[in-house]
Amino acid sequence: MLKELLNQLTGQSNNTANEPKPAAEKKAPVAKNVVATETTGADQAQQGGETTRRTTRRTNSNRNTGETRRPSTRRTTNASGEGAKQSAPRRKNTNSANAAANAEGTAKPARTNNRTNNRTNSTRYNNRNEKNTGDRANINGRHTSHSNGDAHANHQHHSSKKDKLMIIPLGGLGEIGKNMTVFQYGDDIIVLDAGLAFPENDMPGVDIVIPDMSYLIENQDKVRAVVITHGHEDHIGSLAYLLKEINVPVYATNLVCGLIEGKLKENKVGGVKLNIVKAGDEIRVGSFKVGFIQTNHSIPDACAVYFETPVGTVVHTGDFKVDQTPVDGKLMDVHKFAELGNKGVLALMSDSTNVEKPGFTPSESTVGPALLRAVGEARGRVVLATFASNVSRLQQAVDAAVAFKRKVIVLGRSMVNVTEIAQERGYLNIPEGTLIDVDEMGRYRDDEIMILTTGSQGEPMAGLSRMATNNHRTIEITPNDTIIISATPIPGNEAAVGRTIDNLLRLGADVIYGRDRGIHVSGHGSQEDLKTMLNLVRPKFFIPVHGEYRMLKKHGELAVSMGIVKPNHVLVGDNGQIFEFTSRTGRKGGHVTAGKVFVDGLGVGDVGNIVIRDRQQLAQEGMVIVVMAMDRASGQIVAGPDIVSRGFVYVRDAEDLMNEAQKRIEQVIEKCEASQMKDWATIKSQVRDTLGKFLYEKTRRRPMILPIIQDV
Ligand SMILES: [Zn+2]
Ligand SMILES: [Zn+2]
Repeated sequence: MLKELLNQLTGQSNNTANEPKPAAEKKAPVAKNVVATETTGADQAQQGGETTRRTTRRTNSNRNTGETRRPSTRRTTNASGEGAKQSAPRRKNTNSANAAANAEGTAKPARTNNRTNNRTNSTRYNNRNEKNTGDRANINGRHTSHSNGDAHANHQHHSSKKDKLMIIPLGGLGEIGKNMTVFQYGDDIIVLDAGLAFPENDMPGVDIVIPDMSYLIENQDKVRAVVITHGHEDHIGSLAYLLKEINVPVYATNLVCGLIEGKLKENKVGGVKLNIVKAGDEIRVGSFKVGFIQTNHSIPDACAVYFETPVGTVVHTGDFKVDQTPVDGKLMDVHKFAELGNKGVLALMSDSTNVEKPGFTPSESTVGPALLRAVGEARGRVVLATFASNVSRLQQAVDAAVAFKRKVIVLGRSMVNVTEIAQERGYLNIPEGTLIDVDEMGRYRDDEIMILTTGSQGEPMAGLSRMATNNHRTIEITPNDTIIISATPIPGNEAAVGRTIDNLLRLGADVIYGRDRGIHVSGHGSQEDLKTMLNLVRPKFFIPVHGEYRMLKKHGELAVSMGIVKPNHVLVGDNGQIFEFTSRTGRKGGHVTAGKVFVDGLGVGDVGNIVIRDRQQLAQEGMVIVVMAMDRASGQIVAGPDIVSRGFVYVRDAEDLMNEAQKRIEQVIEKCEASQMKDWATIKSQVRDTLGKFLYEKTRRRPMILPIIQDV
């Protein structure tokens, strides 16, 4: 019976627990590497506004751990809950925004400060998928009391401050990712953008991160519309999750609507009122008039949005740069910005991504000639990797292919998806007969082929990375191939991109990459672009957005240095901050709940800080399970203790350690028996303490220890 339990725990059927199959044990480090690399990759995409979807692959060994852990949860009192408690002293705050939030909070009244600290704990609003008993008790308890407090505070807010405009960023401040901003006047709320972020290194197993939407769910009767600036993941990636909770009309431009439709289908969200708008349109939503202004960015159809409210006009730039020669010919509507500026703008919220870069960001159309040159010089196939959503880049790549009579093959799910939508809606012009299927490649010479693929950021599962490691289903790189990486690594991705380039060079291919080749420009404005915007709009108040905290600060200084905004009219805040405006004043008010909600598989918010801490400990230190069977009546141990470990030591090479550990546990049990100790919780905690101390002494490691007692 004990053996049965052990087998279930370890997922082995033919091996005893103390002698794990060497192959399985040897595999573990490899699997761990895979996970580590991929998480690293996944983390990095978050840095960039121009986002690419990371696929976090679960390895088999991962899946096994998950499956084998569940039976133990069912059979024992609360194994996972205890695991959580045990790891509590090693608690590490995974929310990087918290530090900044605390710093901001120090100047505020104690109550506000507490809420600032607490709000990051409340990273969940949906516990339907909750499985982990220990977590439910802990997180839910905290969350419930917390959100009640918030609801109360919000209620007070409305009754006394009806004449104020509140702007509340729920994401996108102090980070580049998961942009979402609430505009509220009286009983009307408009949500601008609903984006996602990619998980950081310390969030193992998390697929994506979305903003905590508790505030919107609590005030859902007031939410009138969602307005989207453009189609990047950090602006539309959490829309499906928001619409699942609150079904409100969505307003976005044509290409964005196409991309959103795909996402809604993927997430099985139906019945959404998707309204196509175009630059120059104005719509009335409650007490707001909302207008759309043409801008330039690394995806077509990007807009700035202005809100005319009873207290004044607020302009939000969205992501932008000033491109005087955009590939799609749609110039930024500087006249509209100037017109609003002349009439008087209460507040400007502007993109801070490239505020650390001097000068102007070059035009997208400067990339065309560089691509043409590179394709012209290629002897064999051309493989071009870029962001799938950069339609203007794809257009210039296709133009270069056509110029040299090459056929184009599109590879990678997101690349195929975007090219289809962009073609359907008239944003990408590919001449008839240019696109071919990958199966038809054999009919053409190498110098008649261009392959468009994903993987420009070194994402492990994307096309180019697979080709670089000889893992691609259809494409094998040869020394005759020319690879063009038409992108620069987003900060944090350098190592992954570097590895991809190294691997491609090892295969003998010619690789064209780097800033000096003219094959990439950013979609975000540099200092001079940002100054141009400030000068056009000349706002009374300035809220820098879309940036890490230092970028927001720097953007504020830039505005002040121009003499356009007074120093005390620059409002730099964190997610959850309420910016309050009357027609004459603007200031930082209190906070609402804001933070990170983890999406893992189908679960939204069911993985919280406690699960993440357990995963971190498991990933870093491994796990040791002690199993024994006890006759409850007599308190005698009738089988075991047996020790099973995963990710801790290679058992075959550590027999002495394990034997000694077993002896120590036996001593603890003998003591318990001698003193008539029958309380399982106490026995378990003594086993855990003794074993933990012993293993730390011998190895300086702190594996998660799970004692399991079975009743016989
Ligand atoms: Zn963005
Ligand atoms: Zn963007």
